[in-house]
Amino acid sequence: MPVSVPHRYRISPHDPDAHLFEVQLTVEKPDPEGQVFTMPAWIPGSYMIRDYARNVVSIRAEADGRDVPLTKLDKSRWQAMPVQKPLTLVAEIYAYDLSVRGAHLDRSHAYFNGPCVFFAVDGQEDLRCEVEIVPPDDPAAAEWRVATSMRRKDAAPYSFGTFEADDYAELIDHPVEAGHLTIGEYEVRGIPHAIAIRGKTRVDMGRLCHDLETLCERHMDLLGVPDGFDRYVFLVHAPGSGYGGLEHRWSSSLVCARDSLPLRGDDNVGEAYRTFLGLASHEYFHSWNVKRMKPAVFMPYDLSAETHTGLLWVFEGITSYYDDLALVRSGLINESSYLELLGRTITRVLRGGGRHRQSVEESSFDAWTKFYKQDANAPNAIVSFYAKGSLIALALDLKLRSETEGRVSLDDVMKACWERWGNSGEGMPEDGFEAVAAEVSGLDLEDFFDAAVRGTGELPLETLLHTHGVHYRLRAASGSSDKGGQQLDEAKQRRVWLGAILSDTNGKPTFTSIMNGGPAELAGIAPGDEAVALDGLQLTTANADSRLKAYRDGDELDLVIFRGDELLTTRIRLASAPTDTCYLELDEDVELAVESRRLSWLHG
Ligand SMILES: [Zn+2]
Repeated sequence: MPVSVPHRYRISPHDPDAHLFEVQLTVEKPDPEGQVFTMPAWIPGSYMIRDYARNVVSIRAEADGRDVPLTKLDKSRWQAMPVQKPLTLVAEIYAYDLSVRGAHLDRSHAYFNGPCVFFAVDGQEDLRCEVEIVPPDDPAAAEWRVATSMRRKDAAPYSFGTFEADDYAELIDHPVEAGHLTIGEYEVRGIPHAIAIRGKTRVDMGRLCHDLETLCERHMDLLGVPDGFDRYVFLVHAPGSGYGGLEHRWSSSLVCARDSLPLRGDDNVGEAYRTFLGLASHEYFHSWNVKRMKPAVFMPYDLSAETHTGLLWVFEGITSYYDDLALVRSGLINESSYLELLGRTITRVLRGGGRHRQSVEESSFDAWTKFYKQDANAPNAIVSFYAKGSLIALALDLKLRSETEGRVSLDDVMKACWERWGNSGEGMPEDGFEAVAAEVSGLDLEDFFDAAVRGTGELPLETLLHTHGVHYRLRAASGSSDKGGQQLDEAKQRRVWLGAILSDTNGKPTFTSIMNGGPAELAGIAPGDEAVALDGLQLTTANADSRLKAYRDGDELDLVIFRGDELLTTRIRLASAPTDTCYLELDEDVELAVESRRLSWLHG
């Protein structure tokens, strides 16, 4: 039987100072009609068209030592003239995007996601791929190491060399980081896991690996080891500030602030480290929920255009629910720390009037053009399928637990979904999750899902949390930096507000979002207006909260702004600040039945 020759890719840091990778691709048996090559328009997990082909700076093809003409077919595709011999494509690709969905090359490191650099061979996407990852010839890069979950063919651990993937879809699901890396390793159920951190760090790697092991173990307890899950790598970029993550089948890319990682001698879990653990937990849970079990319309991904699904709230929202829940269930944070996180999520949702305009199903469907392309009107027009999705998961979990006397929880629904769609190669149909939830619980959940997923009313969280011995409280914010989650004396809460978000843009205090129906909108203030003075005194982003303390509901004041280069004065009538800030309190004095329900929810 003839053995098919794999597609051979070669990527080298061709010109780090110009941020150019050179990517070669040799196709042994090109399409006799003229081989077509495609660059993805988006990367799975980040639902926005990014048109990675825009970073192709030059491209040519050759066969048998001769140039082969290429024709550009559209924004992402090229076709070579028909040839009988192996065909090689050579391209220079600009890489200067430090985000988890990009590619970035300079003298200090090389990072790339496959969709940014690897062309697909149309019609031969199922063929095996090999990639030679070439080190820079700069002697300063002699100590570089390579971290990726891609299978090594002849490359020693953490070194350059040749890697392989079963097909194109797998090839582009292994981000690669090469540079000066701090690496830690641990095992979960015998499966090797690693974390590779780029950026100067004095992290306590022993503690970090111990905590990640605890966390990963917890997730594995819930849904079991996926088929073929034989390795995992967290690729972490830790600059001074930043936050983000993107999931893959055997790895994830995370960006976190350097100071969020634990240092030697620290043994508490402060807010920043809790945020890092929540991010790692989120991306790891995606190994099940979206990387393997996924919407039917993603089977397979069409990376040339938007793919609409109403289910992103299941894949991002439920993942967002389990990310923090796993922290308390694994003992990394305590109950009150978890309730603080929940209170903050509820606060984020309550502060957007868009929750009354858009359902999470609509938000999922329109993720491509709305959630991922937020503008100044976003708080009024859209709801996050992450944040509200996680609260729907919470509400569903508590409802199932209380209405089945603790017999069924969201864990059971997730297990049933995983059994059906986890390893089967089939995707979840649009009505699949709701059907399984009803089936597993034996409850009629139609009204619940209609209201929570397709409706725009408030979720019944206060009542459901009460059945689990948790008080739901609302108060006004103390100011613009108040994220909620904690109780606060009434004297420290603001009495009035402007109904606008004021933040520094190009060094100037700028109204970036105006809340529908709020004082700023009623005064004719628009996004982009620069704040100058309120009631005759300078108004800045830093002093706005304290300036407002002098006033009461109904006070009318002069507000001076720049709109463009025109100075305008308007009257603003201040209104009382909304009670849009939530905090949750454990009821210390509950019946045994309620306490055991709460224990079972928070500790699994
Ligand atoms: Zn996610």
